[in-house]
Amino acid sequence: MKVIVVGGGPAGCAAAYTLLKEGHEAVLFEASDSIGGRTKQLHREGFNLGTGALFLMGGIYPRTMALLREMGHIKKLVPWKSTTELMDDDDSRYPVQLGKFSSFAKVPTLKLIDKLRLLTTGIKLFFSRTAKNPFNGSQLAAYDRGENLEDWTRNNLGSRTYEYVMRPIMDFLYAVPLRELSTPFPKALVRQAHKISLSTPPEGIGQINDWLLENMSSDDVHLSAPVDHLARDGAGWKVFANGNVHQCDAVIIATEAFIAAKLLKEFISIDAYQRLMGTHYTEYAHVAIAYDEDPWPDYPVDAVLPVGVDGERDVGAMVLHGRRQPASVPDGGQLVGVYFNTPPLANMSDEEIKNRAIEQVHDAFGEAPRPRFVHLFRYEKGLTIAKPGHYGSLDKVHDLLPPNIRLAGDYFSQAGVEAAIYSGEHAAKSLSK
Ligand SMILES: Cc1cc2nc3c(=O)[nH]c(=O)nc-3n(C[C@H](O)[C@H](O)[C@H](O)COP(=O)(O)OP(=O)(O)OC[C@H]3O[C@@H](n4cnc5c(N)ncnc54)[C@H](O)[C@@H]3O)c2cc1C
Repeated sequence: MKVIVVGGGPAGCAAAYTLLKEGHEAVLFEASDSIGGRTKQLHREGFNLGTGALFLMGGIYPRTMALLREMGHIKKLVPWKSTTELMDDDDSRYPVQLGKFSSFAKVPTLKLIDKLRLLTTGIKLFFSRTAKNPFNGSQLAAYDRGENLEDWTRNNLGSRTYEYVMRPIMDFLYAVPLRELSTPFPKALVRQAHKISLSTPPEGIGQINDWLLENMSSDDVHLSAPVDHLARDGAGWKVFANGNVHQCDAVIIATEAFIAAKLLKEFISIDAYQRLMGTHYTEYAHVAIAYDEDPWPDYPVDAVLPVGVDGERDVGAMVLHGRRQPASVPDGGQLVGVYFNTPPLANMSDEEIKNRAIEQVHDAFGEAPRPRFVHLFRYEKGLTIAKPGHYGSLDKVHDLLPPNIRLAGDYFSQAGVEAAIYSGEHAAKSLSK
């Protein structure tokens, strides 16, 4: 079978990899001039910047890890201990480990009652039924009761745990107010929290895409080739890109949901189209600040997360990337990533975001000389967000597709490399069947 894969993010690359493994012919079309999508690496003045994703989560990323093992690359992953400080409104600092949720229970602002509630709710969750795979949209849909994460956390764990545990973790992962997030994913995550271990390929998350495509002929990977149109061709399909037409037996569309919707508009029902178009993407910004000489070589932790009860915060996390991924900086250099929360972005210009990033980094790690450069990554549609009802709405779309078309992308469950890889692999396997 000849299958055209549209989109070269981790979902499309995993789909192409799986098709080849199963003995099919795969041809990939990517709109931009390199593969990777929102996991792409950008090289600038000797620094290797992650445009999006920054870490894998070990045991809770089973398909990503399985493919890395299968390809012989798993031992190359660089573990990240993720020593972190919570930085309170009054500048008090509380040490935690980002990849070890239980470490947050030691934060001194939590009272005994908060710790008891954390323990009992944790035990209850461990023995309750939750999605076994936190990146399987179908399983998540089955546990979506329409509640939002803020209400659930305040009701079950209290306000201090909301501010000092759940909010800092989720601000870093999703950057939106917790009332916009549904609960099946975090509940499944808590249940598997003991399996989390953070790591990165030596050249950044984007390297995973290179590995997935390493056995594919370069003739079959078309870059700067946005697919703009599909047409039926008997039982198969025609795919149009750059004014050329390509015939195939089946198509896997591994783009963002709204692009998939537009490509399929004339072949699917209004209901299916609206479900895809309704996928919520949020604005997102992060800033990379590069220093030729590390201003904080002795700083005790690798990351700082602002916390407190002071309402909205503009920054969710600051990470010393030179420690998380040593090969991302030249010898002796440092690269700080500043990850913004979404709500304040609406009122901030690019310049304000960059200045605020520098200000926050100085507050977090201490004063520093002028950086070599400050690079802003700003996405109008950055992360897909699973509001209550999201999983069920999207899961239904699979049943509403025309023959020999499959969709893949993280939006079927939860923003994350594992979600993308799981969905790409799943789409390829379901065509094989
Ligand atoms: C700032 C940020 C930080 C993140 N941090 C993490 C993290 O630490 N860990 C983690 O696991 N995940 C993280 N993520 C999420 C992760 O990057 C995404 O979940 C993942 O990239 C989704 O993969 P995808 O293949 O579904 O989509 P994408 O990566 O968006 O890939 C879609 C691809 O389709 C291409 N395309 C679009 N239209 C067309 C067309 N018409 N023709 C051809 N090609 C087309 C696009 O150019 C793109 O390359 C982060 C994301 C962001 C933005």
